[in-house]
Amino acid sequence: MNLENLEKMVAGLPNFRKTQAYDAIFKSGYDSWEKATNFSYLLRKAFEEKMPLSIDHELFHSKDGKTTRALMKLSDGKHIETVLIRSGKRNSVCVSTQLGCPMGCAFCASGKDGFTRNLTVSEMVEQILLFSRILKKEDEKVSNIVFMGMGEPFLNYKNVIETIRFLNNKSTLGLATRRFSISTSGVLSGIKKLSMEENMEVNLAISLHSAIDKKRDTIMPVNKKFPLSKLAEALSDYYEKTSRKIMIEYVLIKDFNISDEDAVALRKFINELDAAYVVNIIPLNETSCGYEAPTSFEIGKFKSYLEKYKINFVQRFSSGGDINAACGQLVRREKG
Ligand code: SF4
Repeated sequence: MNLENLEKMVAGLPNFRKTQAYDAIFKSGYDSWEKATNFSYLLRKAFEEKMPLSIDHELFHSKDGKTTRALMKLSDGKHIETVLIRSGKRNSVCVSTQLGCPMGCAFCASGKDGFTRNLTVSEMVEQILLFSRILKKEDEKVSNIVFMGMGEPFLNYKNVIETIRFLNNKSTLGLATRRFSISTSGVLSGIKKLSMEENMEVNLAISLHSAIDKKRDTIMPVNKKFPLSKLAEALSDYYEKTSRKIMIEYVLIKDFNISDEDAVALRKFINELDAAYVVNIIPLNETSCGYEAPTSFEIGKFKSYLEKYKINFVQRFSSGGDINAACGQLVRREKG
């Protein structure tokens, strides 16, 4: 799908046709212009030629039925992955923003093969549109979008923001900006730019995973460039400007970041933040990275430390591990 071509196609048409074209894609969820029977045969043919709606993909469903991973083939033959997570009334799409990832986080499979390129707005919109079509058949809708798939969203800042603004538009999905979340490994320039965006109530999540510089350096190379003190400063500044709660993502790794000392460091980091926050603790999804997930007993112990230091936290359960769709498991595979 090429949104630039769509704009060119509708530019010369009357306004009602433009509305019909957008409705066909985003409201009716057609996967072929043939279904847009309110268009003449010639118009349908022209649209099908310049702006085909089919999305080349394969789906994989988790056993519990809550998670669906899609392997999508892009127009240049490269593959990306995107995930639908169903939880109660929420249907969240986890969007990839880059092909590969240059950040090299040690526990994550996404960056293992390096980085190829940023995804375009069309390629990100397509990930959401694919699941929107599937949900429509069940009389459901995409309710939330999280930029937490493959890639560092702030290294593709312009396209990510453009995607949000596009899908916020009433002529497309009309999703409120507060329904979007961006997760960053700690790219400070992105945090700063986001704080200055107008009419942008997106949620910001920061992948922290350790509040001790020496440890964070070993699993997240970004920390060497932007250490914790700088990160806390940028987040405080963001909060001062936006008054929006910050989500702190903390993946629990066995024998690494779940001791009393780690909880004390986390408390200290939060004190420096001076912002409303919640820490989301997520047990590691084991990839081939050599790190292990803690046992339930060890998780319980860490939770007791968090309680002791009065840290506001929620335990998240990353689903889809059985289909390689959980956090940190998305890669550039070409087959399921
Ligand atoms: S955790 Fe995110 S930023 Fe880090 S390598 Fe994986 S995809 Fe990239």
